[in-house]
Amino acid sequence: MSAQLIDGKAFAEGLRHKVAALAAAFEGKAGRKAGLAVVLVGEDPASQVYVRSKGKQTVACGMASFEYKLPVTASEEELLALVEQLNNDRSVDGILVQLPLPAHLDEQKVIATIDPDKDVDGFHVINAGRLAVGQPGFVPCTPLGCLMLLKDRLGDLSGLDAVVIGRSNIVGKPMAQLLVAESCTVTVAHSRTKDLPAVVHRADIVVAAVGRPEMVKADWIKPGATVIDVGINRLPPEPGQDKGRLVGDVDFTGVREVAGAITPVPGGVGPMTIAVLLRNALVAAYRNEGLELDPDAL
Ligand code: NAD
Repeated sequence: MSAQLIDGKAFAEGLRHKVAALAAAFEGKAGRKAGLAVVLVGEDPASQVYVRSKGKQTVACGMASFEYKLPVTASEEELLALVEQLNNDRSVDGILVQLPLPAHLDEQKVIATIDPDKDVDGFHVINAGRLAVGQPGFVPCTPLGCLMLLKDRLGDLSGLDAVVIGRSNIVGKPMAQLLVAESCTVTVAHSRTKDLPAVVHRADIVVAAVGRPEMVKADWIKPGATVIDVGINRLPPEPGQDKGRLVGDVDFTGVREVAGAITPVPGGVGPMTIAVLLRNALVAAYRNEGLELDPDAL
């Protein structure tokens, strides 16, 4: 039997509607809009698309969007000065510096300069630490979006076996922390893991965040498992096409015959990332103004 499709696009739309309603309530209480600032350095085409899309969706949710574009030649001092300026700007609740940065800029130094209470990407070590010890903070958007999809599909995750493939700071590690906090038994697999198919086969929940097209195969999956595919990979173009197909890290066609539920690519995890960013920015706004926000509202 074919797996159920987990519709991240529809879930993300529902989340954006909730954010919009709470953004309007925020404006009524605070007398200003919640504000998200996005900083882009250079002209990387993919980053330009993301930044444009983030700005549009921020405004569509009734929040203020502030976009800052610096030339590829911007110095570290200039970028850090801009971040400091945004840290001190009361109309800015969330700050996101679009990564990757040009090679001459130190990403860790830039992230460390963002006020942790405006770090809506959740990349600051303070927020990584808060996640690790279970204190409220900001959680990276992609793994938090994956967790929302999992809880929506499975309800209580307690006691389930979860395998996260990938150990990056932005997806794999925070994903593992979130699943531990939900009382899953978590294994983090990575490029040095021995017998990955056998490890994955134990899992009730598989989260693939590797960056290798269609790596996870049907015979790795325990029948009925829930599979979350974070990967976004573009295949080489077929003859006569100018763009290749987008695929995930999971062999979707094969795995959907074995899994209980699976996220498609595109239309699964991808749309969740920006919706969760907007959610995080709104949470930041409520916190920055000292306003109550029902933790179950979003
Ligand atoms: P990354 O390159 O930082 O990390 C990849 C991880 O995969 C590493 O920890 C590595 O150990 C592991 N790995 C590599 N080869 C492996 C192998 N053969 N077997 C097992 N593990 C292996 O990547 P990332 O930033 O975590 O992103 C992962 C994927 O998710 C990419 O395709 C990226 O485009 C995608 N992504 C999607 C979103 C989204 O919004 N949907 C957001 C972030 C990343």
